[in-house]
Amino acid sequence: MRLRIKNTRLLFAVISAVVLLSACGSEGSDEPSTQDSLPGIDVLTTIYPITYFTERVGRDLVNVTSLMKPGVPAHDFDPAPSDIIDLAEASLVVYNHASFEVWVDDALDATVSGSRTVIEAADIDTSDGGNADPHAWLSPLKAVAMVQKIKNGLTAAAPTNAGAFSENADELVVELTALSDQIMTRIANCRHNEIVVSHLAYGHLTELLGVRQIGLSGLSAESETGAKRVAEVIDEMRQLNLIYILQEPLSNSDLAMTVAREADAEILELHPLEALTTDEQRAGDDYFTVMRRNIEALALALGCTAS
Ligand SMILES: [Zn+2]
Repeated sequence: MRLRIKNTRLLFAVISAVVLLSACGSEGSDEPSTQDSLPGIDVLTTIYPITYFTERVGRDLVNVTSLMKPGVPAHDFDPAPSDIIDLAEASLVVYNHASFEVWVDDALDATVSGSRTVIEAADIDTSDGGNADPHAWLSPLKAVAMVQKIKNGLTAAAPTNAGAFSENADELVVELTALSDQIMTRIANCRHNEIVVSHLAYGHLTELLGVRQIGLSGLSAESETGAKRVAEVIDEMRQLNLIYILQEPLSNSDLAMTVAREADAEILELHPLEALTTDEQRAGDDYFTVMRRNIEALALALGCTAS
C-alpha cells in the first residue's frame, strides 16, 4: 500500500511536467472560455453515484466523463496518465471525498488550474482518524446534501445555467426524499437489528435505519480479514440468528461463501453502488433501481414484515 502511494506520487511528478507544457498555450485568458465546440461544460467525475448525480443535475448542459469505468472495483482505482491530463483540462471536477478517492489530492496538486472548479461532494467527519465511512451516497438523505454541493459546483462553473441546474437538482431531491421515505416504511417492522455485510460500506445507511452492520472486511472492499475475525462473525451470527450475508458484486465472494457455509446462512446481494457492473449498465440500471433492490435485500436480511 505504502509503495503504491509512493509510485503514484512519482507518476504525478512526471506527468505534471507534461501537463504544464501542454496547458501553456490555452491559459491566456482570465475568463473561462465559452467558445468550445461542444455546448456544455466539461465535467470530470469519479465513482458512479457522483457521475449519476452530476448527470442528473447538469443534463444536456454538461459533458460528464467518469474517470472510473463500469465493472472495475472503485477502491482499486489509480489514475492513468491520460486521466491526469483530463483532470488538468476539466472545467469542473467532482469527487466523493478524499478518504475514498485517496489519490485525488495528489492528482489535483499535480494539475493546478486557475479556471477549474473542484467539488468534494460528501461531508465526512474524519475526526475519528481512519474510521470515517466515506460511503455517504447510500443514505438518500446524505445524497440530498451531495446533490446540493454538485449543483453549487455546476453553478460556479457555468453561472448562466443556474436556473436549470437548480430545477434539475430540486427534481432529484424530491426523488431522493421519496426513496428515503420508501426505505423507512419498508424497514419499519423487523425482527433483527443487525446485518452482515461483505465490507463496511453501509454506515450512513444503517444510521438511517437504526441498525448495526457486522463487516466481513473493513471500510475498503479489499481490506484483509483474519481467521479470528471470521470466527467472531460466525459466532455473532449464530447468537443473533442471522441467516443472510449481504455480499456486493465486483468483489470476491469466497469469504462470504465460507462464512455462509459455517453459519448456515444464505448470500444476498447488497450493492454499494461504487461502480455498476457492465451488465447493470447495459440493463439500464441506475442509482434508484439498484437502491430499490437493496431495500428488498435489507428487508429480507432484517426479517421485516411486508408493509
Ligand atoms: Zn467501499
